[in-house]
Amino acid sequence: MASQIRKIHQQLLDKEISCTGLIQEKLSLLKTNSNNTVNSLLEHVALELAAKVDTKIKNGEAIGLLEGIPFGIKDVFMLQGTTATASSNMLKNYKSAYTATAIQKLLDAGAIPIVKENCDSFGHGSSSENTIFGAVKNAINHNLVGGGSSGGSAVNVAKDYTVFSIGGDTGGSVRQPAGYNRVYGLKPTYGRISRYGLMAYASSTDCVGPIAKSVEDICILLNVMSGKDVKDQTTYASAEINDASLSNHSNIKTVGYFKNFIENEAIDPKIKTDFLTAIEKIKAQGIAIKALDFFNSDILVSTYYTLAMAETASNLSRLDGSNYGNRIDDKNLKESYAITRSENFSEETKRRIIGGNQVLSQGFSDEIYLKSLAIRDAISENFEKDFKEVDIILSPVTPITPPNIGESLKNPHAMYLSDAYTVGFSLGQLPTLTTPQGTETGLQITAAKNNDELVLKFANFLKNTL
Ligand code: GLN
Repeated sequence: MASQIRKIHQQLLDKEISCTGLIQEKLSLLKTNSNNTVNSLLEHVALELAAKVDTKIKNGEAIGLLEGIPFGIKDVFMLQGTTATASSNMLKNYKSAYTATAIQKLLDAGAIPIVKENCDSFGHGSSSENTIFGAVKNAINHNLVGGGSSGGSAVNVAKDYTVFSIGGDTGGSVRQPAGYNRVYGLKPTYGRISRYGLMAYASSTDCVGPIAKSVEDICILLNVMSGKDVKDQTTYASAEINDASLSNHSNIKTVGYFKNFIENEAIDPKIKTDFLTAIEKIKAQGIAIKALDFFNSDILVSTYYTLAMAETASNLSRLDGSNYGNRIDDKNLKESYAITRSENFSEETKRRIIGGNQVLSQGFSDEIYLKSLAIRDAISENFEKDFKEVDIILSPVTPITPPNIGESLKNPHAMYLSDAYTVGFSLGQLPTLTTPQGTETGLQITAAKNNDELVLKFANFLKNTL
């Protein structure tokens, strides 16, 4: 599909549509949607901004490419004056005091936020069922999950309720729902986009990620949101990617894939054959293919969850009813903390807080937490070695197709294992993109750190190859 952003921009310029009409249409689609994607609508602010864009166009003033383009925001981002619930009881009534850097950059470019989107509470989950707003339903089949944790965002894009949405990806939360709903979803190199104003889940892998219907739109959004931010010390300055250069993939000579991801009994047989067919088609285009060795999925999943749980236990310790969110008073301060946290966090979030505090506690931290950090270093070294031999690593996004609604809640361990192909790249802090092609849940394209441009180039190549 071609750029939706450019198409709508042109329609606005040609006065084929008005911005107010466009925003009203999207708001009414969101209001009546039966996919459970909406936590709150930003109707008032959106219509006010749209009227300004219409006035500018009427007066013959120039408008920027993103000006007037409606977008959605996963409900874990701050947007000053609007609720930021994290789909949780804890923050059900919490109003953002400030705006996230990535969102502010989009606002500065004139894009119009229209909805805060349903997701797994605090990003904890792979299905968008861990939410107080009801399970998000898949865009293609209502009986299936929308994926997670940025499920509402991916479904909104797939259904054209938003032109693009901004999700958060800690271990796959942009890429996996993008795959489940057949749209593009990028996790950029860690630090390329500021995390300031994105609620912290696991700070060492949290990334802001755009979800859209074309590679070009992903590129436009990445350029707008990237950059060094004094409010996030892990950010770095990056060069703008010229979207005209995306059609030149001549520097991609070798593509690698992990043998053990494919020769594994946990993979759906159709995903496996479709993946191998995609590899053959790439080879037929003159690109060399290299099978690589990698850590097995169980190690990746257990390392990721150990670290993610440790970090989330620490990050969420601030939510005790004192400064943010709901508070339940009890006989003394300690009891108030306890009841506030036990009543307002979901089962899944509590499981992670308990697990995280356990692995960080004396007597366990050396054995479990520090060991996971060491494995993470080994994973990163492995990636560095691989990217000396290949330009791109291609993998399926998920080993399985989207489960039925209700299944993941019954079996959290199976849900964790479904993240097997996404979490390793998060631990490596690499740029990685879901393209909605190749297998039923798409393909994942990964490059070396800071090589986000190569990822987009290869996605463009695949668009014409598969
Ligand atoms: N499913 C993974 C988890 O629950 C990833 C979630 C995310 O990226 N926020 O940790």
